[in-house]
Amino acid sequence: DVVTRFAPSPTGYLHIGGARTALFNWLYAKAKGGRFLIRIEDTDRERSTPEAVEAIFEGLNWLGLNTDEEIVFQSSREPQHKQVVQSLYQSGHAYACFMTPEETEAARETARASGQALRSPWRDRVPTAEQLATPHVIRFKGPLDEPLVINDAVQGKVSFNTKDMDDLILLRSDGTPTYNLAVVVDDHDMGVTHVIRGDDHLNNAARQALIYKAAGWNVPVFAHIPLIHGPDGAKLSKRHGAQAVGDYQGLGYLPEAMRNYLARLGWSHGDDEIFNDQQMIDWFDIKDINKAPARLDFDKLNHVNAHWIRECEPKRLLILVHDDLISRGVAIDARSAEIIERTLPLIVERAVKITDFADLLAFALAKRPFQIDEKTKKLLTEETFDRLSRLHENLLSLSDWSVGSLDVTLKNFVENEGVGFGKIGPALRGILSGGHPAPDISRILAALGKSEGLARLKDGLF
Ligand code: GLU
Repeated sequence: DVVTRFAPSPTGYLHIGGARTALFNWLYAKAKGGRFLIRIEDTDRERSTPEAVEAIFEGLNWLGLNTDEEIVFQSSREPQHKQVVQSLYQSGHAYACFMTPEETEAARETARASGQALRSPWRDRVPTAEQLATPHVIRFKGPLDEPLVINDAVQGKVSFNTKDMDDLILLRSDGTPTYNLAVVVDDHDMGVTHVIRGDDHLNNAARQALIYKAAGWNVPVFAHIPLIHGPDGAKLSKRHGAQAVGDYQGLGYLPEAMRNYLARLGWSHGDDEIFNDQQMIDWFDIKDINKAPARLDFDKLNHVNAHWIRECEPKRLLILVHDDLISRGVAIDARSAEIIERTLPLIVERAVKITDFADLLAFALAKRPFQIDEKTKKLLTEETFDRLSRLHENLLSLSDWSVGSLDVTLKNFVENEGVGFGKIGPALRGILSGGHPAPDISRILAALGKSEGLARLKDGLF
């Protein structure tokens, strides 16, 4: 059975790179009918904060990347980590090293100067009981000079040699386990079969593989995915804009759009750009992950988001829009709530982000009477004025106030008048929209409703 995991270090917000890693793990587990686990790697006590843990959960929840399984906190597993170090020690795969910090520094210098990996003089010595009672670290005792190949599911065969790999510390002198050891023990105990993560961990994979082998455990499948780059091809950084998943929520993106877009960032299924969850799950496979770094492309993200806004269930869209308006300090009374509900389906095609609705709705929410702008006033020649008065008469008797019916009525009206729509359109739009950006006139009228629509027309004419 496939078991994947997302293992963030809680030192800040949930980065979109991390979110994509989580998504790939989630998708692969779902695709294979397996399990997706979450492990919070909070062993670095200086840098891990409860706020960061909260931010990661918030981001994952918003994205819908949940797990039914218990969340593992790495810090709580210290006893298991130590036990494994103990058994590695007993089986001769680890040794006690008594170098002082100064000696370690000097050994590191020598190793660096000669282009060799760090080896401790304690590697092959048997310490006495008295020595073991003094401060020391436990180091990994791996092969000295052996080729090591990682068969990465994304990167292909990646070759290492153990002669380039330092004797890794497994347990610090204060008794705390180190990162690579903890990851191996946890992944093994959690039954993780596939490790999908950023390719900045590729070198760790080699170290970890050695620990797995020494412990007599199966090495999981590694899949190291390229990092996300900015639109300019440079490594993603602050200057490229939003980094935190939470920022995208604030910018008006939908979680399903983010899932869709992030899935496409480094993975592809033909030329398809739009995927719902089921399609992604059906089609996702590690072998289709790209080896080259993906570039963040806000135009594509916007395109995907606009699609999912149009697909959004009306009730949910209404809530999202209300929340956005309220966050801008727009007070929503019963009347404006009704206008918003009526208007949304008429303008939804024009929205790229949830945050666009504030402007798109402004025409409908404007309180009459409003000043007619100069441009519209100029358009209101006597002729146009008379025509619009006749239109007002005409519309008064219209009972079906739908977009379709208004379309037909307006078309018939200008035909009867023997003019093109351009003769009344611009003035009418100016009067009805209060100078705000607005959809076509039938939609404006349908959105406003009959009484408000006619009242605005009247305001403009009398
Ligand atoms: N905690 C590591 C990180 O946030 C990930 C470790 C892993 O996936 O193996 O970069």
